[in-house]
Amino acid sequence: MVKFLDVKLINKPYEAAFQQKLNQFLEKGWYILGDEVKAFEEEFAAFSGSKYCVGVGNGLDAIILAFKAYIELGYLQKGDEIIVPANTYIASILAILHADLVPVLVEPNLATYNIDPKQIEEKITSKTKGMLIVHLYGQLADMDALIEIGYKHNLLMVEDAAQGHGLPFKGSHARTFSFYPGKNLGALGDGGAVLTNDEQLAKTIKSLSNYGSQKKYYNDYIGYNSRLDELQAAFLRVKLPDVQQENDKRRAVANRYLSEIKNDKIVLPYYDGSDNHVFHLFVIRTKNREELQDYLSERGIQTLIHYPVAPHKQVSMKDFHHLSFPITEKIHEEILSLPMSSVLTQDEVSFVIQALNEY
Ligand SMILES: *Cc1c(COP(=O)(O)O)cnc(C)c1O
Repeated sequence: MVKFLDVKLINKPYEAAFQQKLNQFLEKGWYILGDEVKAFEEEFAAFSGSKYCVGVGNGLDAIILAFKAYIELGYLQKGDEIIVPANTYIASILAILHADLVPVLVEPNLATYNIDPKQIEEKITSKTKGMLIVHLYGQLADMDALIEIGYKHNLLMVEDAAQGHGLPFKGSHARTFSFYPGKNLGALGDGGAVLTNDEQLAKTIKSLSNYGSQKKYYNDYIGYNSRLDELQAAFLRVKLPDVQQENDKRRAVANRYLSEIKNDKIVLPYYDGSDNHVFHLFVIRTKNREELQDYLSERGIQTLIHYPVAPHKQVSMKDFHHLSFPITEKIHEEILSLPMSSVLTQDEVSFVIQALNEY
């Protein structure tokens, strides 16, 4: 049996260190916004090459709070349009809606699955004020082209890097992360963060995440309660030093899949061989997905679909049902995610490759 993702096995080597953190936590008796959150924020900022990091409750809130902070600071107004990939996890679009902004969906490039810069400018209007860039499946979006468009049209550029811990930084205004357990850097529960070099933005997000308050019981904004949990921060600090090494292991698995899977029925993902991909997921395409998934399942190989329904086709997204995104729809019909993690063994990878080559 080859599991799609074994988070328990991923966390196994850290168990003793987690226990120690828990003991210290109980000993200290400080449960909310303590030294661990502060230290994690500093360490994650340094790791990612940003000046400021604000820990928040989860990855969805990280995006919402970044946009809400831009509204509080006057850079955005309710009803402004935000460019976002049509081909993304629903959270990217939910965040824009929750911030009272208007998502403008743009088709992906079929090779990279990320937003197609060439299709953005035709969607830009006088109300377009921002861009939410997603590094889907862990592959860096075409940042050079996106940043050029962003500067040309004076757009705020926020990266939804929930699937891209450890990707290089190319100069957007803010980056948001999720530490959901299955992500490349996963906590033992929910967690999220925003990175930025903008001190004003960081302060505003910090305040918004804590009741809109910088000084206890004095409220500057209509805030939320969305803080990075102190214990999760402690656990994340244990795992953070290994992220790049784990990304290397994921890239090694991907390189084997890419060089050894040989089957005309399967389209392999694009990879330029650089650090611009952290392989949160390894996603193939095939015309007869259910058949392939059943075939692999019979051989004991677990696969998943990221994602089965395109955001604009979701029941919750009624305002988008009249829109058509043929590339996004094709991707959602054909994709299948193979087992991918830092703990797959060489034998497991060989077993998956052999099964696919015999299909
Ligand atoms: C996981 C994910 C999120 C949301 O993160 P949560 O911590 O689950 O709220 C947002 N965007 C993308 C692309 C994701 O993969």
